[in-house]
Amino acid sequence: MPAKSMDELVSLCKRRGFIFQSADIYGGLKGMYDFGPLGVELKNNLKDAWWRSMVYERDDVEGLDSSIIGHKLMFTYSGHTETFNDPLVECKDCHARMRADHMKDTSVCEQCGSTNVTEPRVFNLMFKTNIGPIESEDSVGYLRPETAQHIFANFKNVVDSTARKVPFGIAQMGKAFRNEIIARNFIFRVREFEQMELEFFVKPGEDEKWHEYWLEERLKWWEEQGLPRDKINVLDVPDDDLAHYAKRTYDLEYKYPHGHDEIEGIANRTDYDLGNHTKAQNEFDLTAEVHENKDSNSKLAVLDDESKKWYVPYVIEPSAGVERGVLAVMNEAYTEEDLGDGKSRIVLKFKPHLAPIKVAVIPLKKNHDGLGAKAREIKNTLQALGLGRILFENTGNIGKAYRRHDEVGTPICVTVDFDTIESDNAVTIRDRDTMEQKRIKIDELEDFVKDFYQAAQSRDSKAAA
Ligand code: ATP
Repeated sequence: MPAKSMDELVSLCKRRGFIFQSADIYGGLKGMYDFGPLGVELKNNLKDAWWRSMVYERDDVEGLDSSIIGHKLMFTYSGHTETFNDPLVECKDCHARMRADHMKDTSVCEQCGSTNVTEPRVFNLMFKTNIGPIESEDSVGYLRPETAQHIFANFKNVVDSTARKVPFGIAQMGKAFRNEIIARNFIFRVREFEQMELEFFVKPGEDEKWHEYWLEERLKWWEEQGLPRDKINVLDVPDDDLAHYAKRTYDLEYKYPHGHDEIEGIANRTDYDLGNHTKAQNEFDLTAEVHENKDSNSKLAVLDDESKKWYVPYVIEPSAGVERGVLAVMNEAYTEEDLGDGKSRIVLKFKPHLAPIKVAVIPLKKNHDGLGAKAREIKNTLQALGLGRILFENTGNIGKAYRRHDEVGTPICVTVDFDTIESDNAVTIRDRDTMEQKRIKIDELEDFVKDFYQAAQSRDSKAAA
């Protein structure tokens, strides 16, 4: 049962330390958010899951971590300086700014109803900066608006250093910046965000098959993160809405509290990107319309083993947003449960691999030497398993601790009590979802926790298969 509204999520995120407005002590920076103690764990877990499935569990993808600031020529040849624009309309009365392509009527202000508005004008979304001490046109660089262009620019480096043959992919996760006209819906549309992008290079003619393949793979992956398929619309983007570089695009639209909206785009970008960035463009039978490139010093092409001809590969690009992913998995995990007797609880039923805290170890009494020492010993042993964060929770109120860990989605709580240290060398384990408690020996705890996380992982991959 997802959250009833975005406000419920925003409030939980702040209260429990997932997400804060950036620079809120100075009134906040619009379209920027900071991930708090639990948010950073959740975000890293989602990114780890993506990297594992895209790189480690495959044999045809290499990773990359490129610079964030990009060469201006890279964004000239990619088409971003010319076309990465949104149409901006401003109201001369209330000074509201709006995206013309999101307005019902571009002659009427959506905020105050005035017709005293500007004509739509193009607004480039890239953040411009200067590299080095001199500010001039020559020193201009851009904060990347997507991670993809650096992947294309590194195509030859990766091929030469790994001897990869098409089909293969290059995966990258990292920051992207877009000076959105309006940032809205919490972390859904922000100005600084992270992307998880794969550029998968294929032989022209095999592109459609691979496009379908990646659509299916990505739906399976989101299911493993807790988003059921029936909550994701697959939009086959109509031709007149396609980006100029795309032959076909599937948008995956998750049902957010504000409505269905894009969580990931899976585009067939043809040979547009490598074709634009390659030198000697005339030597190849490019299908995309490209800008003439006199600056590149590399051929971004591969040799076809059969025909012995060089060609520029096509690209299939699954590109997902980390913030939009975090918002979706939080929304889907959010559950309000009626416990009877007028009592209820809020619990985040994250898939265990995404939970920010894997196990909370709670001594029954706060600041008690014997209980504390045993709880710390257990924490350290479990921490060494490498599953993620294990928390020593020294608050001394078991009821409150359980409530707090339900609300942040901790799958297992371990309570250390007086019997633990005085008689039975056992602890109480409480399960987040069933709230069942059982007693197990400390000797068996390590295996129990390991098995719990392994079983959860294999259950999720089987369910999505
Ligand atoms: P939209 O139409 O919502 O602006 P887009 O089609 O421009 O998105 P892409 O260029 O395909 O987005 O970027 C790939 C992914 O990056 C998106 O599916 C989304 O998850 C994420 N993304 C893009 N812009 C933003 C943003 N402003 N804030 C957060 N995530 C974003």
